[in-house]
Amino acid sequence: MQAYIEEVIEAGSVDFSNELYMKIYLSGCDFKCPYCNTPHLLETKFEQEIDLREIKKQMENQKGTVEGIIISGGEPCFQKAALLDMLSKAKELEMKTVIDTNGSKPDVIEALLKNELITKINVDIKAPMNELFDKVTNSSTWFKTSKDIMNDMKQTLEILKAYDEKAEITFQTTIIPGLIFRKEDLMKIAKEIEDINCVWELKSFRTSQVTDKRIKELKTPTDEFLKNIREQIMKEKPGLNMRLSF
Ligand code: SF4
Repeated sequence: MQAYIEEVIEAGSVDFSNELYMKIYLSGCDFKCPYCNTPHLLETKFEQEIDLREIKKQMENQKGTVEGIIISGGEPCFQKAALLDMLSKAKELEMKTVIDTNGSKPDVIEALLKNELITKINVDIKAPMNELFDKVTNSSTWFKTSKDIMNDMKQTLEILKAYDEKAEITFQTTIIPGLIFRKEDLMKIAKEIEDINCVWELKSFRTSQVTDKRIKELKTPTDEFLKNIREQIMKEKPGLNMRLSF
């Protein structure tokens, strides 16, 4: 089987632990977030096509050196068959499995959880499910309206709720001045995820790879701003397990 893969890092460190993981970056994404930090991964390109037998061999070689694999992107759920294939191999090798996703493919996420193929899932929850969602993700097209996409996201949240004892769930929201930064909007997100056993991480956006000029010129929110907003949310929702990533 072939997959569009931009990069494989055989043993890299990760934010959430001191362990080493093999990182696999799949290309292709259905969102076009103006603050995207991986613009080179949004489209699939012929030259990125790789035979998965090569990747699985690398996984076998790395067993014992790394704790597991992380599949990121782009949007990894875009390539369902390849994703299932790689995660099944990792499971067979008894490696931990982590995926980063924008949450727009509930059927794929359900298949991964149902088949117990993931240890940890990092889901972007980019905006509340209202008119802000399309502004933040640029995801609606002629073929799929913003309403359809938000319905998919809502379905993903229901699936994650149903499986929240089976995998570690982290929701991630990037704080972007002028776009997603208001307490009222963040409280709406809090309401959408509060019943799910999860960690909710607020991230400061980074401009290094951003191509959108207006976003590139924005100042990143200060650590103080993030701490303050977290404090305000926690006052109203003390049951949330929130953390910050600077
Ligand atoms: S979902 Fe992620 S990869 Fe896709 S455009 Fe948004 S930030 Fe970029």
